[in-house]
Amino acid sequence: MTKRVAFIAGNWKMNLDHQQGIALVQKLAWTLKDAAHDYSSAEVVVFPGFTSIRSIQTLIDADKLEVRLGAQDISAQDSGAFTGEVSGVALKKLDVEYVLIGHSERRQYHNEDDAVVQAKTAAAFRHGIVPVICVGETAEELETEGSAAVPVRQALAALKNHETLGDFVVAYEPVWAIGTGQVATPEVAASVCSKIRVAIAEEHGAEIADRTRILYGGSVKAANVAGFLKSVDVDGVLVGGASLDAEEFSGIARFQKHLAL
Ligand code: PEP
Repeated sequence: MTKRVAFIAGNWKMNLDHQQGIALVQKLAWTLKDAAHDYSSAEVVVFPGFTSIRSIQTLIDADKLEVRLGAQDISAQDSGAFTGEVSGVALKKLDVEYVLIGHSERRQYHNEDDAVVQAKTAAAFRHGIVPVICVGETAEELETEGSAAVPVRQALAALKNHETLGDFVVAYEPVWAIGTGQVATPEVAASVCSKIRVAIAEEHGAEIADRTRILYGGSVKAANVAGFLKSVDVDGVLVGGASLDAEEFSGIARFQKHLAL
């Protein structure tokens, strides 16, 4: 089995201006440095809003920080008359390494369906940006279909019809757990992540499935992260609210400390 480096992702959503973003990343980097954080065992990635990306890129570059940079969305198009969209070309120029695709808030408020998510995943692959494909069931779907059916279906749909699959990450985020304080149990999270991996192996081969990082997201905090990450099936976490606090987010990144207790 491939050793998968833990992936600790902070989705800032529509919070923080560029100055607040700089302050947060500085504090995060200092806190992790003080704690002698080993980035080779747990990668730390921030996903600021578009207007902060250039500032965070400059900070990371100037201070040689090991924190990595992601974006919250990507256009399916590469250029042209698409007002308000941001292309993979422009993101790549800003050293963006990862992009969230199909977050439940995009699916819900911007009507992004599986076809849009697939097209955006293709755009990320075209530009050498790693898609973090977000999947998860609503409370109603949990009632009617259980926890795994929808996330597995959404993940496979995003990965369909690509000439070659680049590296990608999948984030299992039950919609009912996002920003609510409710969490899936570690057992359910591990079981859904495992089913996603099995489905990827069936469709795309064991080697791809084995190296793909599959995350849990939904009301993760420093106090509950270790429960999710003790499973070999969960390779990291996607964090919303708690990523806006440098101390809390660095506590999440240092989950291994809790596992050792
Ligand atoms: C998210 O936005 O992906 C998320 C999981 O949010 P929160 O951690 O606030 O539930």
